[in-house]
Amino acid sequence: MAKEPTTRTMSFAFPRFIHAPSLLYRNLATTHEKSYLLLLPQKRRFCAVTPSSFSKSSGEELMVVVGGGAAGMYGAIRAKTLAPNLKVVVIEKGKPLSKVRISGGGRCNVTNGHCFDNMVLAEHYPRGHKELRGSFFKMHSPADTMTWFSDHGVDLKTEDDGRVFPVSNTSSSVIDCLLFEAKKRGVILQTGKVVTNASSTGSGKFTIKVEKRTADYVEYLEPDYLLITSGSSRQGYSLVAKLGHSIVEPVPSLFTFKIDDAELAELSGTTFTKVKAKLKLESLQKSIPQLTQVGPMLVTHWGLSGPVILRLSAWGARDLSSSDYKGILQVDFAPDIHIEDVRSILNQHKDQFTKQKLLNSFPSEFGLTKRFWKYIIDREGVSGDILWASVSGGSLTSVASALKHCSFNVIGKGQFKDEFVTAGGVPLSEIYLNTMESRIQSHLFFAGEVLNIDGITGGFNFQNAWSGGYIAGTSVGNLANGNSQLDRKKTVA
Ligand SMILES: Cc1cc2nc3c(=O)[nH]c(=O)nc-3n(C[C@H](O)[C@H](O)[C@H](O)COP(=O)(O)OP(=O)(O)OC[C@H]3O[C@@H](n4cnc5c(N)ncnc54)[C@H](O)[C@@H]3O)c2cc1C
Repeated sequence: MAKEPTTRTMSFAFPRFIHAPSLLYRNLATTHEKSYLLLLPQKRRFCAVTPSSFSKSSGEELMVVVGGGAAGMYGAIRAKTLAPNLKVVVIEKGKPLSKVRISGGGRCNVTNGHCFDNMVLAEHYPRGHKELRGSFFKMHSPADTMTWFSDHGVDLKTEDDGRVFPVSNTSSSVIDCLLFEAKKRGVILQTGKVVTNASSTGSGKFTIKVEKRTADYVEYLEPDYLLITSGSSRQGYSLVAKLGHSIVEPVPSLFTFKIDDAELAELSGTTFTKVKAKLKLESLQKSIPQLTQVGPMLVTHWGLSGPVILRLSAWGARDLSSSDYKGILQVDFAPDIHIEDVRSILNQHKDQFTKQKLLNSFPSEFGLTKRFWKYIIDREGVSGDILWASVSGGSLTSVASALKHCSFNVIGKGQFKDEFVTAGGVPLSEIYLNTMESRIQSHLFFAGEVLNIDGITGGFNFQNAWSGGYIAGTSVGNLANGNSQLDRKKTVA
């Protein structure tokens, strides 16, 4: 038998003690302003329930946002801006906006400023490129994001490659802005608390269980609107499943390739301004155009990185995962020169520099470093010590071929520290993209990385969070204002 907990001291105002051996007390948040201690039968013998911060006056509705990341904070601010009388509570298990802080190497690549056409913009999302062609970016585009932040005091700049950063060059500007706007509008931010369970009540509301990791502490809330913005957290996926949604298996995206080639690793730091790289995977029968990419590439200690590789990792994320990150990467180091012309350039060089050693002289047309040229001729078994006059036609053909179709064995996945994102999550077929509402459960909304949307590097992942958060916040704000006509029919394009 459990003892009466009256001798325990807890630091809550006006504690009332309830003996509840088999059942946790529900529905507190909607009715009372006081705090409670519950006596529980199992491991957690005492638990505090403090609905005071969420207490609502009669008729007031409650929106709970699970996760205080980019999507959650932006959505909460939008909902509260549209419906100031709506109670908006963000529950965050760690620190709010922690990924914003580390993003873009601490500078936060807020969005991309070079994609004004929404069709082109959608092409930057390996998961979502078809669905996002419709209403999604029309309702909140990168330009809208930029306007929002500049209107709220964050000056932005667009770099040559389209990435948009705060002029301050620090992500703190973005964080301070969002926290300030949330506070100013009366969004309640609860940190250090985890939403561990969620279900629908059957009467159009939800019951969610909130716990603190550091203390025996449980709260039950009954929000009228639930926005899940839990990013790639496993706990978030489990909530999603409890609410009746399916999950596309999460797999990593945006990573570098480990290459089985010790000689290549010695070239670490070598950059190529433009290569054409094609990823070939055994598991893939059909050819996917996005698995060929053109752009800069970088040699690292463990393999290959740079924009081309990151884009291939994103487009190939799912197939790479099922191939255990093993495949063949075929690189064209002279993508603008036809193979016949590569051969002619080599032949012309041979005629012109007959008395030079192969290692010391090579055509400038290919834009290669001496170290990389040595790598290529070594790879083809051609000695760098022979004179150009002595190089055989066959050797020149194999060097030309290595420059145009150089194959590397991908043996695994490396890291990319600047950005990382998870592919997978709630399938887009299960939500209305013009409201971000669930098709399964009304008044349940999703935004951000918890959805099966992910972009390549360049600010596209945050843009997904801003657009989704904004649309979801708009939907909840409108509903709370009595506009129950959410246009559920018009959905994806
Ligand atoms: C190192 C790094 C750098 C990046 N840089 C960029 C960049 O410069 N530009 C860009 O566009 N993208 C960048 N990204 C990707 C970008 O950070 C994410 O796409 C974006 O943060 C997703 O926002 P979100 O709000 O959906 O999820 P998150 O930012 O992950 O937020 C989810 C929040 O929910 C909380 N949470 C989860 N489950 C629960 C629960 N059960 N209860 C309570 N709280 C919960 C988590 O603690 C977390 O704070 C970067 C990612 C990384 C890892």
